[in-house]
Amino acid sequence: MSKYADVILPVPLDRYFTYSIPSSLEHLVMPGTRLYVPFGKNRRLTAITVKTHDEKPSGYSVRDILGVLDEAHPSLLPQQMKLFKWISGYCLCTPGDVMKAALPAGLRPDNSPNTHSFKPKTGLFVRPGPNLTVNGMTDPDLLFGNRAKARKELFCKYLELSGADVNPESPGLVSRQSLAAFCKSPSVLQALIDEGILEYYEAETGRLKPFTGKKRPLNELSQVQQKAIDEIRNSFLSRNVCLLHGITSCGKTEIYIHLIKEQIDKGRQVLYLLPEIALTTQIMHRLQSVFGDDMTVYHSRCPENVRAEIWNRQTGPEPYKLVLGARSAVMLPFSNLGLVIVDEEHEPSFKQNDPAPRYHGRNTAIMLADICHAKTLLGSATPSFESYFNALTGKYGMVTVSQRFRETGLPAPIIVDVAEMKRKRYMNGIFSPQLKEKISEALENGKQVILFQNRRGYSQTVECQDCGWVQKCDRCDVSLTFHKENGMAVCHYCGRKYRVPVSCPSCGGKSIRGRGYGTERIEEDIKELFPKARTARLDLDSAKAGYETILSDFQDGKTDILVGTQMISKGLDFGNVSVVGILQADSIMSYPDFRATERAYQLIMQVAGRAGRKESGAVVVIQTRQPEAQILRMLSFSDWKEYFTGQMTERKLFNYPPYSRLVSLILKSTSLEKVEKASSSMAEKLSALFGREMVLGPDAPMISRIQSRHIRTIMVKNPVETSVRYTRTLLMQAVREMEEEEGLNGVTLFFDADPQ
Ligand code: ADP
Ligand code: ZN
Ligand code: ZN
Repeated sequence: MSKYADVILPVPLDRYFTYSIPSSLEHLVMPGTRLYVPFGKNRRLTAITVKTHDEKPSGYSVRDILGVLDEAHPSLLPQQMKLFKWISGYCLCTPGDVMKAALPAGLRPDNSPNTHSFKPKTGLFVRPGPNLTVNGMTDPDLLFGNRAKARKELFCKYLELSGADVNPESPGLVSRQSLAAFCKSPSVLQALIDEGILEYYEAETGRLKPFTGKKRPLNELSQVQQKAIDEIRNSFLSRNVCLLHGITSCGKTEIYIHLIKEQIDKGRQVLYLLPEIALTTQIMHRLQSVFGDDMTVYHSRCPENVRAEIWNRQTGPEPYKLVLGARSAVMLPFSNLGLVIVDEEHEPSFKQNDPAPRYHGRNTAIMLADICHAKTLLGSATPSFESYFNALTGKYGMVTVSQRFRETGLPAPIIVDVAEMKRKRYMNGIFSPQLKEKISEALENGKQVILFQNRRGYSQTVECQDCGWVQKCDRCDVSLTFHKENGMAVCHYCGRKYRVPVSCPSCGGKSIRGRGYGTERIEEDIKELFPKARTARLDLDSAKAGYETILSDFQDGKTDILVGTQMISKGLDFGNVSVVGILQADSIMSYPDFRATERAYQLIMQVAGRAGRKESGAVVVIQTRQPEAQILRMLSFSDWKEYFTGQMTERKLFNYPPYSRLVSLILKSTSLEKVEKASSSMAEKLSALFGREMVLGPDAPMISRIQSRHIRTIMVKNPVETSVRYTRTLLMQAVREMEEEEGLNGVTLFFDADPQ
């Protein structure tokens, strides 16, 4: 038994803390056990035990823990403790940051007024009472004879509901409510209780609704899919990670389902990660109809109590066999993980940008699988260059599927030169004649249409037509987007809303107008052009009212045209879409970032992939001012490798990932002067430590002020061979020097490893 515990606390300090364990509690404390401890003057916090030992810390008086929160078994498994350590090391954050991100709030109570600790949901149940004999159970006549007909009937109902009529040794759960539903009067049930034949007791009921739909057997795989799955299994014999590069609609999800079933049959668990949970409904239903209550869904928008309940079940005797989740699900306990699937692995939203830990869901998943001796399957029609590179260089296995399940082929691209159309006056408004024609053709044939635009809201900016003044956010360095629904100009970075002025604050003119097209306006215009079509919109604004109905209406053919932002690009499977329109492809092709073309390419291919999933003859109409752009000429599945190879040459030339490893330092302050001074002196220190050519910046990012805070970034480039630990040591040294010499007063600084 050990007398001391080193623990993680949810505080922003980069260290563990040591507490003493009263001897009466010693036997309960082990790595992963949650403790309740005093902190500072009068705070009390939940802590996670990292290790126990007998070395009395010197230099300060050690305090006793106040209690043990996990009495039956630790809430965190050894594998998780390892993973958390890796995350804080790799992502350059504190152990407390990881703890806060991982553990549902209900499982880390503290003594602040708005905390609430998780309480299992309980209900009232009925079970055999003290006066019920085994004989009475098998022969109710013994109990009631010929009298008390109502009581006898109700008792027999209990036997039926609990299964005790067949299996009197272990009656199943029967809630009071379900039995009471058969009572003619409440007094009948009460009488059985009073007689001691039945009794009430309280038990945990859980917040998660059981699956009530119908389960179906697995679909049989096509030959192509069967071949792919054999190759995946094969690849797992020699490698831990396999990349499934499969054309949109080749049936990746079906392949996953078969692999999941295989793991479950072997008694192992599966974690299935998706980039954004908002759009998982479709996949959730598909999986549920096969796996029913063996699975659950876990993401940061689940209610806290539900998250806590799932967490607890994961460390209990019957953990979920399949967890479908967003990136935060990598933090869940898995006692017997066999496989991790990362679907749409190229999605940038797997990366958490704020707050710390700034971890990448995919990379963390690979690490989790490694720790658990499980395998990882990455799936995408447009793999991240990083993963594809790892596959080509042999670090990962790779399996390619280039045929759609229904052999429909990708939609044919129609590239529309918008500048030319405008010059010839074929186009006023945002719809080219080519797109209009395709839409009306589709509608006539009872087909559906998806229109993609990268910007929500009505108009992209609010401007004065006389002097060019543009309405901007007071707190951020961004122009505002006009939203017609609420008549306000909105900052998409901080959410602040503004009235649009009647007269221009700069010249006093009265001609203030919105400019550019957001999804709201496109929806409005399309309704005008095709008044008979039923139109809907899917973006962050409309999703608030319920994205599920929007999607299911489209799926059921209740709407004909769906206008949306990138939300519509992710893995959705609609059979009847024959036209996809990308309205302003330029808006996604021109970001000043080395990943810009990779992203644009992925987005265009993914959006296009929503069309023609069931029938051939679909088209994707791409409106652009750069019809010659290289990515628009390489939209067939087989071009992918060539495009990738070309891009890699450039990345190598400029020493960008995957040929180097990036860490960015972000400095923020309300004072421009302070942030400028701190960032340039930080950049100097880093140059001295890493070498001048390895440090870029300080730079002002494209949006250099958000919520009144000025931002500067510094990028450190490292050769891939340098260890993360080495980089971390140097970075920490620079920070320490800064703090000692001039202090970082008024400036916050944080790291982002592998910024996306
Ligand atoms: P992906 O995930 O690769 O985009 P999906 O798994 O969504 O593709 O498959 C595309 C469509 O084809 C879906 O409607 C799916 O139900 C159907 N499908 C794929 N494979 C099979 C199969 N083996 N049996 C029946 N239907 C299948
Ligand atoms: Zn003006
Ligand atoms: Zn703002």
